[in-house]
Amino acid sequence: MTDTLRTLIFDQSSCRAHLVHLSKAWQQVVNNNDYPRPVQKVLGELVAASTMLSASLKFEGSLIIQIQGDGPIRLLVAECNSRLGLRATVKLVEGTQIPENASFKDLVNTTGKGICAIILDPRNRLPGQAPYQGIVPLAGTSVADSLEAYMHSSEQLETRLVLNSDATTAAGVMLQQMPQHGGVVSSKEFDADGWDRLKALINTLQTEEHLATETDELAKRLFWEEDPDGLAERQAHFECTCSRDKVGKMLLSLGQAELDDALSENPTVEIQCDFCNANYSFTRADCNALFTESSHHEGPQEPQPPTLH
Ligand SMILES: [Zn+2]
Repeated sequence: MTDTLRTLIFDQSSCRAHLVHLSKAWQQVVNNNDYPRPVQKVLGELVAASTMLSASLKFEGSLIIQIQGDGPIRLLVAECNSRLGLRATVKLVEGTQIPENASFKDLVNTTGKGICAIILDPRNRLPGQAPYQGIVPLAGTSVADSLEAYMHSSEQLETRLVLNSDATTAAGVMLQQMPQHGGVVSSKEFDADGWDRLKALINTLQTEEHLATETDELAKRLFWEEDPDGLAERQAHFECTCSRDKVGKMLLSLGQAELDDALSENPTVEIQCDFCNANYSFTRADCNALFTESSHHEGPQEPQPPTLH
């Protein structure tokens, strides 16, 4: 079982491709929660996409894709940091029944009010500094469609994505057009048909073959005639960044009154991590200590789910 990411450069076409094939890391996400199959499929596609988008950026920190849905899925989150540590979670509307054949639109965009946000959270964010966040209305009938539309409207970057997932594997290919006049390729050498040709190649990919084929083998099968330059293969892994310290900051932001309320009913406040199921328990004394310490150091807050204004 491998979790690999491979980047290919097509110099003459001014394009770049990322291929990702996740098994162990994806299975850890799957095993942490018992999501209905259509939900799991959409989440796997989002995880594959977040890994490739994170790898495509020169950025130290976490890339977070959030889809806020208006259907049975309230929130989909896939996060991948610059070390390719990934985690993901879903919030479903309580008590909802999800049919086996539910489509992407059925799940997150039933009335057209779904939104897609990409957040870049720098590793060493200064106190008070807000993470970069781009938000667009949800467009398209799949995760791939929606992210292509996001990249087009928010980043002005032509992107083509093929995403697939099942219970054991999440896989993706991402093709991106790079700026053509960076001085690397002269206009004489520039292959104007390259983008269309590469798009056509990845469009031939069938789900079954995609899920069953490791990145290197797939790169060979798809692009052997294109002779791309390959960058070193990278390994992805499951990594949850939750900590008692971060949960403490979240409790602080709820305020003393709310915590007092919770503690009047139970001897401790129990918080479970949505991503890895780790449990954090705070007694009254722990909570009091949070408020005493908070006057000494104000840390940055965790990013909140985005809203459209
Ligand atoms: Zn966690």
